[in-house]
Amino acid sequence: MELNTLRGIRAGDPQLLSDKHRVHSAAHGLSSVLQMLLSYQDMLSRAEKDLVWHSVDFLMSQEQNCNWPAELGAIIERENELVHWCHGAPGVAYLFAKAYLINKKPQYLDTCIRSGELVWQKGLLKKGPGICHGVAGSAYVFLLLYRLTGNSKYLYRAQRQAIIFPSSHCSEVHRP
Ligand SMILES: [Zn+2]
Repeated sequence: MELNTLRGIRAGDPQLLSDKHRVHSAAHGLSSVLQMLLSYQDMLSRAEKDLVWHSVDFLMSQEQNCNWPAELGAIIERENELVHWCHGAPGVAYLFAKAYLINKKPQYLDTCIRSGELVWQKGLLKKGPGICHGVAGSAYVFLLLYRLTGNSKYLYRAQRQAIIFPSSHCSEVHRP
């Protein structure tokens, strides 16, 4: 059960987490598990909800310069960091968007915005047009931020990513 493994966080010992939960990323780890639990929180008990929110805040505390390492406790090396939906800020941002939509705490929105800034600073991915580790995965973050804030800057940024699709930039695909 997902909630049982989150009790390692509550106990102050993240080492008790299962292998899946020691990975932060949206594709393979904790952030998507928490996002799903938030999406169906009406089905959780009060204690379970508390556990989920505690875990959301724990994951927020693991941010390193607007990004999250692929694995719990790892240190991000700036020159080699992954900024993909599957590993990194573009995927983890969805959890904090969901958290913000539910309880309106500004720090969750701030975390989303910082994630988007990193995606923009890093520029276009060179791994194809896909969502997982490609241009579309980056562009979706800007669409998410536009919906959250109404700031047209994010729509512009999404369009700048989309404009690349017909180009040769996207000819190199399927490289994770
Ligand atoms: Zn990927």
